[in-house]
Amino acid sequence: MTKTVGILGAGQLARMLALAAHEMGVKTICYDAHDTSSAAAATQTVQGSFEDQECLLAWARNCDVITYETENIPLAATDILAGQGLEVYPSRRALAMMQNRNLEKTFCRQLGIQTAEFAIVHNEAELQDAVSLLGYPCVLKTTTLGYDGKGQYRLNDDSDLSSLSLSWDREYIVEQWLQHDGECSILSVRDHDGKIKHYPLTYNQHQHGMLAYSRAPYPDRAMQKKANDIAERILEHFTYVGVLAIEFFMVGDNLLINEMAPRVHNSFHWTIEGATTSQFANHLRALLHWPLGTTEAIATSHLYNCIGQMPVCERILSYSGAYYHDYGKMVRPGRKLGHVTWCDFNHPGDTEIATALWSEINNIYN
Ligand code: ATP
Ligand code: MG
Repeated sequence: MTKTVGILGAGQLARMLALAAHEMGVKTICYDAHDTSSAAAATQTVQGSFEDQECLLAWARNCDVITYETENIPLAATDILAGQGLEVYPSRRALAMMQNRNLEKTFCRQLGIQTAEFAIVHNEAELQDAVSLLGYPCVLKTTTLGYDGKGQYRLNDDSDLSSLSLSWDREYIVEQWLQHDGECSILSVRDHDGKIKHYPLTYNQHQHGMLAYSRAPYPDRAMQKKANDIAERILEHFTYVGVLAIEFFMVGDNLLINEMAPRVHNSFHWTIEGATTSQFANHLRALLHWPLGTTEAIATSHLYNCIGQMPVCERILSYSGAYYHDYGKMVRPGRKLGHVTWCDFNHPGDTEIATALWSEINNIYN
């Protein structure tokens, strides 16, 4: 019988999950409080508040299993669903930790996993103490509801600190600004039987706090092993089901966790064309008790985010091995509107085409 997966959220991640589901004969229905347009072009969507118990349950009744495309959904919504015996993956415990930077970093410390030094602040006095302790440069972030670098303030000196105007009705984290050697991420998947698979490590570059470019596989076996080990410990800790993404800072030979995401992740969109099984297909397979697909890369993939405006489709497609993804979103500076993947099947290490493609994509940040 046809399975139906419910997805909380209806943005581009839900859209790409829905497209992968469609190929496997799986139905999806998305639920979102706001704009459902990106996913709506690909699947059925319902617009309703996450607090609206009646609407949420009416939607959920049509679903065999439920997942989410963002960690920024109220835990109360998953509790309403669980209260009716509906299965939501990844688990509430993992979601609760990964949606809060304080809980996330504290958890890492408890497991002996390195992170940047940090302090939690609730008022001006605590903020002053945190900055004295950590020194400049540092970065202040909201502990919850951040994405794409939103809700973050880089502090280089006292004048940055004094020009902040914060509302103290919420909690913030101050992190030491790491002088790292680069950023990378791992995406791993665990199924109901405890089987785990890891994708190749991906190298990431950010601009203005947003992911701009990724390349995979990152060819460092020792780093890959370290990342796999960390992911495995976290997956086991939560008896996790589904995909888990972890963003790292590389400092010398060490990996420090920046943050985790209990969902499919932007830095692994290259797996659609560049791996034997995409991250989207494997997340669904895990949820549905289906065998996980192999996670090998079949090329060196370059992933470019299109921010603020889309490049010209015909120009991108004139490059052999390039794939164009338009999320169908309203154009706005600073908004992720799509991505381009170039799978380098034939010229390992070719930087000329990679650079030429980059120059086709004129991102508008703001
Ligand atoms: P996203 O949704 O893109 O993951 P986010 O809003 O969750 O972004 P972070 O991942 O915390 O934000 O930060 C975005 C980027 O800013 C990081 O990938 C990194 O490039 C830079 N950054 C954030 N915190 C630090 C830090 N403590 N030291 C050095 N760089 C940092
Ligand atoms: Mg991040």
